[in-house]
Amino acid sequence: MRIDQDIKLDYDDVLIRPKRSTLRSRGDVTLAREFRFPHSNKTWQGVPIIVANMDAIATVSMAKIMTQNKMMVAMSKYLSPEDFTKVDSNYNFFTIGIRDEDYEKLSAAANHAEINYICIDAANAYTERFVEVVKQVRDNYPEAVIMAGNVVTGEMTEELILAGADIVKIGVGPGSACLTRRVAGVGYPQLSAVIECADAAHGLKGLICADGGLKSSGDFAKAFGAGADFVMSGSMFAGHDESEMKIIERNSKKYLPYYGSSSDKAIKKHYGEDGKKNYRASEGRELLLEYKGPVQHTITELLGGIRSACTYVGAEKLKELSKRTTFIRVNRQLNTIHQGKEE
Ligand code: 5GP
Repeated sequence: MRIDQDIKLDYDDVLIRPKRSTLRSRGDVTLAREFRFPHSNKTWQGVPIIVANMDAIATVSMAKIMTQNKMMVAMSKYLSPEDFTKVDSNYNFFTIGIRDEDYEKLSAAANHAEINYICIDAANAYTERFVEVVKQVRDNYPEAVIMAGNVVTGEMTEELILAGADIVKIGVGPGSACLTRRVAGVGYPQLSAVIECADAAHGLKGLICADGGLKSSGDFAKAFGAGADFVMSGSMFAGHDESEMKIIERNSKKYLPYYGSSSDKAIKKHYGEDGKKNYRASEGRELLLEYKGPVQHTITELLGGIRSACTYVGAEKLKELSKRTTFIRVNRQLNTIHQGKEE
């Protein structure tokens, strides 16, 4: 047994320190970026925010709105190949897991639809099997941009890039519908994971995507400030019309469901009553979120908040934000956003 004594931080443990700036307005800030990838020779331009590949959010209607905003969606791995033909293949990832059936589904889908962006997703990407799947997909889809994860440490980020990933997805345990920290006692404070993995990836000309645990636009700004190239969220995009779920009314208030991909609800929905098998515990939970209307309003607010952060530190482009970021450590209690009702 060993204890790592270094302090590791979450988004709530820091704030971004303001800096002298020549920017006059938030309107002067450019959030769009252009990326080149270490393996695929494609280039991508847009606002590097990705909707997580989860049931209640990664829908075809969400993909349409996000594409209009030049942002991305990792489509749900349960989406049919036919449905994938309805979305723009330059802004949406085709998502697979690491089962043989997932790979077969990708091959079948590639016959129907153009697939340029592939997300290989597993709760634990530290296994040899995961690395083999990344290599297999890279060998067979040399032109595709591959995003793979999740991991939280530099050495595994490097291993996935060397195996063929262009973007490594970072995050074990921070998700709002995630119970891994509680159930398994495993995880890594997300801000530190992003800082350390970005450093490792950039050394190999790879990219990272900070996945989960973002509660506000300020957290997105912190993730980009920490070095994330892309940021992925589920909960920020949940609770909107585009979830394609039925609104639930309780005490004359409206709610929409949001549940973890390995919650009992998701497992039952996709694998049936005994899908969980008797050796697995749920590492996801089910939440009811207040209904928030169309997602466009949330997107506008979110981008406005990130622009504001850029203005405070004098970053004219999102690309400059991490260079201009100094984090200060703060008392977590003071910084936590209180979720209580405001009147
Ligand atoms: P959120 O935006 O809700 O904070 O985080 C979304 C992320 O949580 C997803 O992209 C995914 O990485 C993670 N996630 C989604 N469902 C589950 C789950 O059931 N268990 C765990 N451990 N993580 C999940």
